[in-house]
Amino acid sequence: MIDVIALLKSLINCQSITPVQAGALDLAQELLSKAGFTVQRLPAGEVDNLWATDNACPRALLAGHIDVVPPGDETAWHSAPFIAEERDGYIYGRGAADMKAGVAAMLCAATRLRQQGINGIAILLTSDEEGPALHGTRHVVEWWQKNNEECIDYAIVGEPTCEEFFGDTIKTGRRGSLTARIIVHGQQTHVAYPHRGDNPNHQLINALETMRQNWPPCLTAEASSAPSTGFQVVSLKSGAGANNITPASATATINFRYAPADDPAQLQQTLESSLTQTTGKNWTCDWEHSAEPFFTATDSVLVHALQEEIDKVTGRRPALSTGGGTSDGRFLRTICRELVEFGPRNETIHAPNERVGIEEVRQLATIYEKTVQGLLLSKN
Ligand SMILES: [Zn+2]
Repeated sequence: MIDVIALLKSLINCQSITPVQAGALDLAQELLSKAGFTVQRLPAGEVDNLWATDNACPRALLAGHIDVVPPGDETAWHSAPFIAEERDGYIYGRGAADMKAGVAAMLCAATRLRQQGINGIAILLTSDEEGPALHGTRHVVEWWQKNNEECIDYAIVGEPTCEEFFGDTIKTGRRGSLTARIIVHGQQTHVAYPHRGDNPNHQLINALETMRQNWPPCLTAEASSAPSTGFQVVSLKSGAGANNITPASATATINFRYAPADDPAQLQQTLESSLTQTTGKNWTCDWEHSAEPFFTATDSVLVHALQEEIDKVTGRRPALSTGGGTSDGRFLRTICRELVEFGPRNETIHAPNERVGIEEVRQLATIYEKTVQGLLLSKN
């Protein structure tokens, strides 16, 4: 029987800063092979990925990443970031919460389910979630799509989703991300003779303020549990280098975090027609669509099963959230019918002295095990 805490400590001791796996995937491979899984490595570029199945057609996927962000200022740490240390009921180390606790709990749950003879489990581990995310989960999803026509029924991603208490939050989706770099062109002149030029700053301010005031423009028409689209001005840049000049151009970067119900092309059109209305034709705009949204219905089988198990183990009824940045869930959702994210508390992720509660890691392993057990046994 694997001890989840001993496994977590061994994973933390691997200095797996993106994209280096530093032995973490080797450790997982050894453990899964011993438990009877067929393990494949799917490397791409500098990134290493692991895919394991129990030889049955996968119906439940447990997914995560073993890569971590750098420790940052090491003098701010009370113990070495890559030597797991147990203090006051916590395990300290880089990646403890994001997301080696989730990985350790998933590996533990998978081996226990294997021992019970339950089939239909797949494990995906990548070393490229905290980085560009090009050769990690996305690559494995493309590989899956080339070789399989079927979708996997359920996926759980072990990201740290809980806020104040362990068990308080499940993520049922994430919004998409659409960024625009807008340049409004004007005519440079002396600030004391503004009528000779055309000040692009004023036009840009008007355009952005119009967008902000009128947002959201009634594009989101989904159930109240689904996320709504947000509009934010991310940065502004202008100036000609002196206080007596009005500049020739002004630049703004804006970002939409958009709901699954919204069409990015329509958002693009809304912004561009607003620019034309407020500034005339004197603008250009470059778009970057960096993440697709995904959303699993709150009354789905998976959400219900996970909620029940969290309640049984922790006594808490988790809230369903779609907050936070993007995650690898956006890629996995294309090959999984239902997908949620659930893991430990996220209070110290990416910070010095990252930690995870020992009790919550043990509870997490039980929650993963019982949820998957229930899902796979009930549908047979
Ligand atoms: Zn993470």
